Amino acid sequence: MKAILFDLDGVLYTGENAIEGAADVINWCVDEAVPHLFLTNTTSRPRAALVDKLAGFSIVTNPDDFLTPALAATQWLSNNINGKIALFIPDATRDEFADFEQCEDNAEQGAQAVIVGDLGEAWNFKMLNRAFRLLMNNPDTKLIALGMTRYWRAQDGLRLDAAPFVKALEHASGREAIVLGKPSKEFYSSALDRLGCDASETIMIGDDIRGDIEASQRAGIRGLLVTTGKFQQTDLEQGIKPFDVIDSIADLPAWWASHS
Ligand SMILES: [Mg+2]
Repeated sequence: MKAILFDLDGVLYTGENAIEGAADVINWCVDEAVPHLFLTNTTSRPRAALVDKLAGFSIVTNPDDFLTPALAATQWLSNNINGKIALFIPDATRDEFADFEQCEDNAEQGAQAVIVGDLGEAWNFKMLNRAFRLLMNNPDTKLIALGMTRYWRAQDGLRLDAAPFVKALEHASGREAIVLGKPSKEFYSSALDRLGCDASETIMIGDDIRGDIEASQRAGIRGLLVTTGKFQQTDLEQGIKPFDVIDSIADLPAWWASHS
């Protein structure tokens, strides 16, 4: 094994609290010169803010260490879309799309792409319906999902992520979303490209049995599940077999040593 992909939420931290030992593990990774990349579906923060957030946990990174759905989406839009886009994403990440012409805030037609991220409590019926109308008013409008995470663990318990809302739009419009983020295989392929490593020499460490483990293993990467974050015992009863399971990221260096 040569390289590591890290999920963030639930692996390095939960909400605003660091997972014990996370900073030491990232330092270990840097000291040992292990190629690594942080792979997150977070759309509530741009990469620069992720750097700041990790710095708050004494984890030193730079924006190039992250692959986010927003980054993958801007790449995809540059190659595939000529026209206006409509964003249904948190304000914090709107700047990442500043190079693209955007529909007016209340527009119900005229978008070449409808882009959906995790809006959380900002979702309301009017907004979801506007995304639906944008799709229905032009059969060529693309539905872009910034990841298909089903849920995550917040301070007060599990919370819906982007996928349930994307599914609602797919169901109503009869259109299939283009997924730029986990669990898409292309997202993992582009992570491997950025690392310059083969799937067979890379592990993905995450707390999501589907988005992190099943999806990375579909791309030929070994999935290492941690039992922190959103992990629940029933995750292991769904027919998905992680390459291995460890209690927490703190156990990674020892695990790595015994598997190298
Ligand atoms: Mg996670």
